[in-house]
Amino acid sequence: MAQAGHSGPRTVRSPRGTDLSARGWQQEAALRMLQNNLDPEVAEHPDRLVVYGGTGKAARDWRSFDAMVRTLRTLKDDETMLVQSGRPVGVMTTHEWAPRVLLANSNLVGDWANWEEFRRLEQLGLTMYGQMTAGSWIYIGTQGILQGTYETFAAVAAKRFGGSLAGTITLTAGLGGMGGAQPLAVTMNDGVALCVDCDPRAIDRRIEHGYLDERADSLEHALELATAARDQRRPLSIGVLGNAAEVLPRLLAMGAPIDIVTDQTSAHDPLAYLPLGVDFADMAAYAAQKPADFTARARESMARHVEAMVGFQDAGAEVFDYGNSIRGEAQLAGYGRAFAFPGFVPAYIRPLFCEGKGPFRWAALSGDPKDIHATDRAILDLFPENESLARWIRLAGERVRFQGLPARICWLGQGERDRAGERFNAMVASGELSAPVVIGRDHLDCGSVASPYRETEAMLDGSDAIADWPLLNAMVNVASGASWVSVHHGGGVGMGRSLHAGQVTVADGTPLAGEKIRRVLTNDPGMGVIRHVDAGYERADAVAAERGVRVPMREG
Ligand code: NAD
Repeated sequence: MAQAGHSGPRTVRSPRGTDLSARGWQQEAALRMLQNNLDPEVAEHPDRLVVYGGTGKAARDWRSFDAMVRTLRTLKDDETMLVQSGRPVGVMTTHEWAPRVLLANSNLVGDWANWEEFRRLEQLGLTMYGQMTAGSWIYIGTQGILQGTYETFAAVAAKRFGGSLAGTITLTAGLGGMGGAQPLAVTMNDGVALCVDCDPRAIDRRIEHGYLDERADSLEHALELATAARDQRRPLSIGVLGNAAEVLPRLLAMGAPIDIVTDQTSAHDPLAYLPLGVDFADMAAYAAQKPADFTARARESMARHVEAMVGFQDAGAEVFDYGNSIRGEAQLAGYGRAFAFPGFVPAYIRPLFCEGKGPFRWAALSGDPKDIHATDRAILDLFPENESLARWIRLAGERVRFQGLPARICWLGQGERDRAGERFNAMVASGELSAPVVIGRDHLDCGSVASPYRETEAMLDGSDAIADWPLLNAMVNVASGASWVSVHHGGGVGMGRSLHAGQVTVADGTPLAGEKIRRVLTNDPGMGVIRHVDAGYERADAVAAERGVRVPMREG
């Protein structure tokens, strides 16, 4: 809890239970989720207000945080607080269907939209980096990355391996903060994962946290373990120490029976990728002392790494880039076939986007895990035919440790999110849940983001960089009754590379909330459907026809 009269770092934690410190649940929910984003269990660097993703913040500075808390506590049911990059700048009279909070984070005019200018303005105290769910108060910890990775591997299984990874071996590298979700996501899909990292501590940490099963002594040992488990169709994840730029070509030359290859080393930053011939122990000092030299050698090594990935593809494996720019870096080093394999969104996620599917999530404002377990049962009851969803919900119930307020994430699409939301609202009304829940999503969603290196890479009609869609998405969520709505720039891939929008809607059990939820959770995924109809995707066209999404250009 924030202490009054003190505007420096302190420990923040969302209140639990049903006592309100604001005038209603809509305001209380925003207050709790702002505080929850800064809970030390949730945030990476709460003392600096940093929630995740490098420098993604929940508030610009502690004075702004205090002012937002103060304002939310007094905000009326017909008022809206305006937040400009983490600082509350106004309260306006609106009406009860309007959002209680509107946020705009990190936006810059096109020609100025680069890191250098952003940092200059940030230094002056004029802006903050909002990432995606940091500045829009709906981050729920590492469950988000685990589920997204699980969903990607489930899509790989559906596309190539009959719906399961049982009997397959996935080869990847990078067991860091996000990449560390890969082994568990593969075994949750019943496959075998062989994971290379050059940092022994990264391997040990993943084993400690239950994300990785075991560590092999050598590459030969790792292959033995992997093939034995594969032959028994037994899920297993194995860590092996080494430089991916060396290990992948070796495995290729050995004719290793690899079915799927991807990578999550931190290739987006060449100073964080270990070059060939450099000891891990010397990496940090070398990068600091000779950055240009290091970068050239890292890129050259990435070219060898990507060349081996292409070799596996030529040999019949399923190969994809997992959003770390390794193809671009290998191309900069002069490797001509770097883009021979696709990015993960065009390869697996876009068909889901065409159905309005995306990372739907919710959090229990009671703080009581029982409320999430009850919503888990409701999801299983609502969508019995969706086996991959049921497996995720069951495994998440067993394996995901809650961080901060108990929360859940799962991918739902057009015609599903509204049903889940209305059920949750009814459960609040009946007392089956002990307090209201907030329902939101990541900005990495079907109709809420323009990001040509990731979510909108290789759109069918070439509209990758068209950024009208996230703006329309934010506006339609405001018009539909969301509780808070945000428009951000630069999340995920950095300044100048993305525009995206978010919404959170509170299920407080009232009929009014039910009306808002029905509209928001129909129109928000509906944006994904119409965005993909417009780009010419047949699946989106069929979904629009089946599920009653009106598209004027189809009606003439
Ligand atoms: P991280 O820095 O925490 O971890 C990177 C790991 O790679 C480290 O453990 C490091 O030791 C290892 N590594 C570096 N060079 C290596 C080499 N040559 N051989 C073997 N291992 C090496 O990073 P992270 O948070 O796990 O993210 C990894 C990358 O994946 C980032 O580029 C991130 O942007 C990307 N990513 C993208 C998405 C997405 O698009 N949805 C999701 C998750 C991660």
